[in-house]
Amino acid sequence: MKKVVVGTVVVCAAAVCTAAALVVRHRMKNCGKWTRAMNILKEFEEKCKTPVEKLKQVADAMTVEMHAGLASEGGSKLKMLISYVDNLPTGDEKGLFYALDLGGTNFRVLRVQLGGKDERVVRQEFVEVAIPPHLMTGSSEALFGFIAEALAKFVEEEGDGYHPVSGRQRELGFTFSFPVRQTSIASGTLIKWTKGFNIEDTVGQDVVGEITKAMEKIGLDMRVAALVNDTIGTLAGGSYYNDNVIAAVILGTGTNAAYVERAHAIPKWQGLLPQSGEMVINMEWGNFRSSHLPITEYDQALDLESLNPGEQIFEKMISGMYLGEIVRRVLCRMAEEAAFFGDVVPPKLKRPFILRTPDMSAMHHDTSPDLRVIGSKLNDILEVSNSPLPMRKIIFELCDIVATRGARLSAAGIYGIIKKLGRDIPKDGDKQKSVIAVDGGLFEHYTKFRNSMESSLKELLGDEVADNFVIEHSNDGSGIGAALLAASHSQYLGVEES
Ligand code: ADP
Ligand code: MG
Repeated sequence: MKKVVVGTVVVCAAAVCTAAALVVRHRMKNCGKWTRAMNILKEFEEKCKTPVEKLKQVADAMTVEMHAGLASEGGSKLKMLISYVDNLPTGDEKGLFYALDLGGTNFRVLRVQLGGKDERVVRQEFVEVAIPPHLMTGSSEALFGFIAEALAKFVEEEGDGYHPVSGRQRELGFTFSFPVRQTSIASGTLIKWTKGFNIEDTVGQDVVGEITKAMEKIGLDMRVAALVNDTIGTLAGGSYYNDNVIAAVILGTGTNAAYVERAHAIPKWQGLLPQSGEMVINMEWGNFRSSHLPITEYDQALDLESLNPGEQIFEKMISGMYLGEIVRRVLCRMAEEAAFFGDVVPPKLKRPFILRTPDMSAMHHDTSPDLRVIGSKLNDILEVSNSPLPMRKIIFELCDIVATRGARLSAAGIYGIIKKLGRDIPKDGDKQKSVIAVDGGLFEHYTKFRNSMESSLKELLGDEVADNFVIEHSNDGSGIGAALLAASHSQYLGVEES
């Protein structure tokens, strides 16, 4: 009897020992896992570094490219396109105008009743329509047909308080946020699609012609009075309320910048413009690249596997379409090489673009002690349940690295424009603040990105000069701006309302 008891005790003790060893080994493995993931993170962080000296090099490279792009067609990665906008809205504009904003995930139609200097925007309304994904890579007819239909419906539903003048054609400002070579204020040919759009047979086509054809087909009598992009629209919208807007930047799905250039500083335009005037230049800065950019292997892979390899390199490092995807790529590496999520790589994690920038932003703004938001995002998006705190902390850090790099590079771009305009030097007696109008979902909603961008710009300018600048959120400036430009380029200008 006793023997049996002893035997059992021995067996039990052995089992306890084995279990203890297993626990220790499991802990060690776990500990190794976090260390390996941290190593991947640290290496990535090192390559993403943007000390102020580096940002200044990026800004200088931007300035050099701006000069080159203004000097000759095709002289730079920066297209520095002439917008034909040489008169920004003044506030005197009157009447009912429409805008159409296409260039991202949603498109918007908007109407605005303008009352002139004293009344300004009497009323405005817009609707936002999601673009069905299949239309983003389908035929031109399908895409523009869909847009024309939405516009016709919007016009049909027009309520009280909007006053089209009878007998006159409705006029529209078209914000088309893809690179376009303008041929006048209201015509231009598409250079290429970006941001996930890829429509057959439209490159080289007149964009206004395409939308006009679609409107005519369904009997909608509307004239495109101005063709702009979101950046130029934002610049125009900002200028309507403030005379000192010198540049506009979009930070949304994609990124771009526009600014007011002196005509004599545009060599490629000499002889075609009065040398005393000004011209809004559409930089298409998303296509900027420079050896000074902190490009990592993750960025290279993202670029190679994108719809437009080799292009829009700056955009791929800073804009909303890509930030979450960069985070996903680093997580993939951690999963594969450090068993970050356990023995199997979560299948969802392998899916490109599954981690969107708004999700990344939500995780990055998680202030709960146990990083609860990160936990639930991991669960909802990647089907990773019960994520331990060390995992959540690493993900938080990763979001911070990617967002900070993007924000600081954006600031460097803006600093480049300021340098190009020679406004980076303190000037005595210049009391009017210059405004940079910024719009786009990334800037609007990603607070940490925005704060980092603003503080980096201050760091670059220095305290004294920084006081001369304000960054202003121009909320939906682009929609209103396009309508305002339609007004200032109306075919009925100078014709009295009767
Ligand atoms: P678009 O650039 O498509 O015209 P928006 O200016 O509204 O449209 O920007 C939308 C983009 O902004 C989204 O693709 C996304 O990348 C980014 N975004 C939207 N909401 C957030 C958010 N909460 N946090 C971070 N980024 C966001
Ligand atoms: Mg937009």
